[in-house]
Amino acid sequence: MGAFLWDMFFSILGAAIMLVIPLIVRHITHNVVYLEAGEARREIIRLGILSLILIVIEYGCNFWTTYYGHRMSSRMEYDMRAELFAHYQKLSFSFFDDQKVGHLMSRVTTDLFDISELFHHGPEDLVISVIKLVGSFTILFFINWRLALVAFILVPPMTLYAIKLNKRMKIVYKRNRKKIAEINGQIEENLSGIRVVKSFANEEVEKKKFKVGNDGFLESKRQNYLVMAQYQSGINGFTTLLNVLVVIVGAFLITENKLPVTDLVTFLLYVGNVTEPIRKLVAFTEQYQNGMSGFERFYEIINIHPDIEDSPNAVEAHRFEGKISFRDVSFRYENTLQDVLAHVDLEIEPGEYVALIGPSGVGKTTLCSLIPRFYEVSSGAILVDGRDVRDYTQKSLRRNIGIVQQDVYLFSGDVMENIRYGRPDATDEEIILAAKQANAHDFIMSLPEGYHTDIGQRGVKLSGGQKQRISIARVFLKNPPILIFDEATSSLDNKSEKVVQKSLEALAQNRTTLVIAHRLSTIRSASRILVLSEDGIDEEGTHEELMEKNGVYAMLYRLQFPEFLEETDDIEYAHAN
Ligand code: ADP
Repeated sequence: MGAFLWDMFFSILGAAIMLVIPLIVRHITHNVVYLEAGEARREIIRLGILSLILIVIEYGCNFWTTYYGHRMSSRMEYDMRAELFAHYQKLSFSFFDDQKVGHLMSRVTTDLFDISELFHHGPEDLVISVIKLVGSFTILFFINWRLALVAFILVPPMTLYAIKLNKRMKIVYKRNRKKIAEINGQIEENLSGIRVVKSFANEEVEKKKFKVGNDGFLESKRQNYLVMAQYQSGINGFTTLLNVLVVIVGAFLITENKLPVTDLVTFLLYVGNVTEPIRKLVAFTEQYQNGMSGFERFYEIINIHPDIEDSPNAVEAHRFEGKISFRDVSFRYENTLQDVLAHVDLEIEPGEYVALIGPSGVGKTTLCSLIPRFYEVSSGAILVDGRDVRDYTQKSLRRNIGIVQQDVYLFSGDVMENIRYGRPDATDEEIILAAKQANAHDFIMSLPEGYHTDIGQRGVKLSGGQKQRISIARVFLKNPPILIFDEATSSLDNKSEKVVQKSLEALAQNRTTLVIAHRLSTIRSASRILVLSEDGIDEEGTHEELMEKNGVYAMLYRLQFPEFLEETDDIEYAHAN
């Protein structure tokens, strides 16, 4: 607040000096005309020195408001940005399911910038403009009320003109922003999917699509500049008109001896002080609207409460044994009509290796994501080590669960940093050990700079199998008692699939493991197989038991792999998925 008051103080002081300087000029010209030469010279020197001092002070004021004012507003922006970012970290999966990343980003960037601009320039512009406008008129009225009235006549039409064009400009700006957002979206989409574009050799199609957006933007810019040209030339026209009008009327007044020549000069110096505030005040209305709508958008997000929060008496989980129980669990996603899971009961013992199979979309991933509480069960309960997951703190619960996802997300940075993500305080030796356990050490060493190889955005330079092994190394490092593994469906060739499988088996040792399985090899290692269907868990047992039972699993298995029934481990189960 102190910085804000100083900012205001210096703004007002600066504005006051701007008002005083023409008065000094008036004195100087007055002296030239009416004093005898020697005295006039002394007076001019004195006034000259005073002007110089005022100019230095004005420099200081401008410097202060520009530098410290902006610094203050960017500090405020910094705090809000941190608050928003922290809030994003708190929000749960269901929030992000409904949001576009681009929009969430623009709230952190442009919206906050609009707010800080308003916060800094708004009050300052308002105060300075009002002081200048009122101050100039008061002074002019005292100098010569007739000429002041003439100058004043032009203010209302000029203001009206500015407001009218400003309105039009706002509409065009808004359209402009929309168009640029569209273009950005298009570019983002195209670049993220550039591999698909190229594989379909659809570059021309993409160029055509882009041309539509680009043309639209060009047209909107044309309109933008049209209005801007009208606005600027209009305001400039008014300013010149004001000058000319003052000169003409002033000259008449001089001929009638109602105005000294020196006062006419003063008047002309003040004209700028009249037109500039009008321009600023009009611009302020737009800044105000942008800033306030940015503010609203900011609070809209900040006021969203994470739908999954620690209960007030949540306990810190220590290392789990790894027993997982589903008790009559039903779940549906927000804004959907159907339950994905209905009345599921399931017991998984510590150290068990369970494979989940079933057609795509049946709810395997969903079932797994309920255990770390990424989503809240709609009814029933999930217990880990005999206690409801809702009774643990989310942090300690998730610390106990390792997840290897199908689509591995690697952060920019090198291999070492990416594995360290599993446990940020791990030493380099621990990381290398984890990589060895995950069968990743050898391929990492063959990279150009070993563990310090930069993986690039989203790890595009690594193969699917390599990424999965890095992700497995992360979980080795984290060393959780519960493991959830969403197997990559089809991106791995047989060889890398085998290596990944070996890594997974090593990782699964002494942990409760749930695998969303798409391949025979993973299913075979399972101590229990759960077959999920629309109606829930259809069958469960070991491979042999289920084959003997001769139910859905056996049928699926025989249907798809009739000739390889017992001989091979390599066949993908992908067709069932
Ligand atoms: P699986 O892993 O067996 O392929 P999922 O658990 O991914 O199945 O999906 C189960 C069902 O829930 C599907 O019908 C899917 O469309 C739906 N679904 C998955 N994720 C979401 C979500 N975030 N919001 C709404 N519906 C979802």
